Amino acid sequence: MKQYDTDQLNQLRLHGVPPSAIARELGLSVNTVKSYIRRHPNIENTVRCQWCEEPVLQSAGRKQKKFCSDRCRITYWNHRYRREGHHGRDKAS
Ligand SMILES: [Zn+2]
Repeated sequence: MKQYDTDQLNQLRLHGVPPSAIARELGLSVNTVKSYIRRHPNIENTVRCQWCEEPVLQSAGRKQKKFCSDRCRITYWNHRYRREGHHGRDKAS
């Protein structure tokens, strides 16, 4: 597969598109897409934790994860809820 194809493939994966739909979209066979996903179960350095900005490893076939851990997710939402209307996040810690 060309680099362009894998980029597109990963982009679609990030949006939760199933392998069959990705194959159709990119004009590849479903087996090609599935074997690529099997060999690359994680999309590295693509998604970063919305809280701590660490890369978040994605599980194949699962919904996109936006946080590296539950702790980050909860902290993010608590923070966001309390600071609604404010600009940016409080970097001081
Ligand atoms: Zn995190």
